[in-house]
Amino acid sequence: MRSPTPADLYPFAGQQLPCYVNGEFVRAAGSFENVNPVNGRVIATVTAADAALVDRALRAARAALSGPWGRMSVAERCALLRKVAERIEQRFPEFVSAEVGDTGKTLKQATSLDIPRGAANFHAYADLLLARGSECFEMSTPDGRGALNYSVHKPVGVVAVIAPWNLPFLLMTWKVAPALACGNTVVAKPSEETPSSATLLAQVMHEAGVPPGVFNLVHGFGPAATGEALVSHPEVNAIAFTGETATGAAIMKSAAPGVKALSFELGGKNAALIFADADFEAAVAGTMRSVFSNTGQVCLCSERVYVERPVFERFVAALATRARALTLGGPHDAADMGPLISRAHRDKVLSYYHLARTEHGEVVCGGGTPHFGDERDQGAFVEPTILTGLAEDARCVKEEIFGPVCHIAPFDAEAEAVRLANDTRYGLCAAVWTSNLQRAHRVARQMEVGSVWVNDWYLRDLRVPFGGVKLSGIGREGGAHSLAFFSEAMNICVKL
Ligand code: NAD
Repeated sequence: MRSPTPADLYPFAGQQLPCYVNGEFVRAAGSFENVNPVNGRVIATVTAADAALVDRALRAARAALSGPWGRMSVAERCALLRKVAERIEQRFPEFVSAEVGDTGKTLKQATSLDIPRGAANFHAYADLLLARGSECFEMSTPDGRGALNYSVHKPVGVVAVIAPWNLPFLLMTWKVAPALACGNTVVAKPSEETPSSATLLAQVMHEAGVPPGVFNLVHGFGPAATGEALVSHPEVNAIAFTGETATGAAIMKSAAPGVKALSFELGGKNAALIFADADFEAAVAGTMRSVFSNTGQVCLCSERVYVERPVFERFVAALATRARALTLGGPHDAADMGPLISRAHRDKVLSYYHLARTEHGEVVCGGGTPHFGDERDQGAFVEPTILTGLAEDARCVKEEIFGPVCHIAPFDAEAEAVRLANDTRYGLCAAVWTSNLQRAHRVARQMEVGSVWVNDWYLRDLRVPFGGVKLSGIGREGGAHSLAFFSEAMNICVKL
């Protein structure tokens, strides 16, 4: 294991991470530990926001709507967002170190995806807002003089942003950037597992001159704690949430009395369909990425892989060969795959590895924990795992595991593949691998999901709609869809 260089060092080592409320960094008595999942070591403590601090943050956010922020022109607001993006880019190594310190994810992923995308979100929504127009309809009236209808976009108000731990900075900024671009104020809560990059974001907002109260950050747990205090508070007008489906259901309950606007990006149990006519090597390489990226902790990961029977055996063998060759380690080990987020999550994933055996599945490779013989044995590592032979109603095939694991099953006909892919309560995304263009479109069109990739996976343009159907979410984010959620469109009708 390589020793980290000073440039790799976690920026909050040994400190207590503050909350950020009304332009001030606040530390309070309540705190919790931030644990590095590579070795189980406590790397920092984190201020836990109680209900009183959440209340202060929300009141500051409400007041800021009618302060200098509320009077800024769209151009001024967007210039400020670009400054935030530039500060993220200037402090790039710190953001990377914060993200890998919390998650243990590979440096390659943090430097190529998580942090650049975080900065890109601010640039993208500044661009989109500047380009947004409004609708105008002429109408005729009985007196012949007519009327003109035109719409204006106003902020929704105070937005609560709740983010998960798997892509912490990318997913938080994916909501914070459009919410601010549209003129709202924000109280954000990162996952209790990943407080660090969000704390750096608060610093960057401060340095960029974002007025006090416009962006606030509260740390803490969800149920009966910071998260619940936030989403149930009457000052919140809209909630943008990414996380588990069960959490979405709990938030919906808390939000119901206030009839708050909800945007939910929830769990998945995504299918990959591999047809025999697909480019075999591309399908294997793409499925490796879609199963094992971020240690299987991407909501878009494929946990169910269906392969047309003529290439089934060959596909399973090829995927298993590559999975066995994956190296595991911390961010500074230049490994292919990092740990899971925590020991608790490791126990959950391992329980599915065990369940697969009791459900009469075959464990083709993996199925346990690696042995390093050093401090990483105190971390949250599991082996990349491939299962076959499970019944379609087995829990391992039905429930989201959120680890580096997939189940592979054969199919004989296109209609059967479509039926198997859709036989789930989730509906986030699917991947279809085929060289037949007609089939690609025909199958993609029938998927009961929000996004389909044909001959690829996780190729994202920030302007396209993103979201899930069934238990995978409510609404769409991305491009104009985010702007629509974070704005109230008002119509003005002028009688001529
Ligand atoms: P989680 O639901 O446990 O937690 C997400 C956030 O919600 C955390 O900040 C948590 O503190 C907070 N929270 C928990 N209970 C709450 C409550 N009652 N009130 C308010 N806040 C509460 O999710 P996680 O374990 O952090 O993330 C993994 C899950 O996220 C997986 O299910 C994954 O599929 C999903 N996810 C979905 C997408 C998507 O775009 N659809 C993207 C990434 C992750």
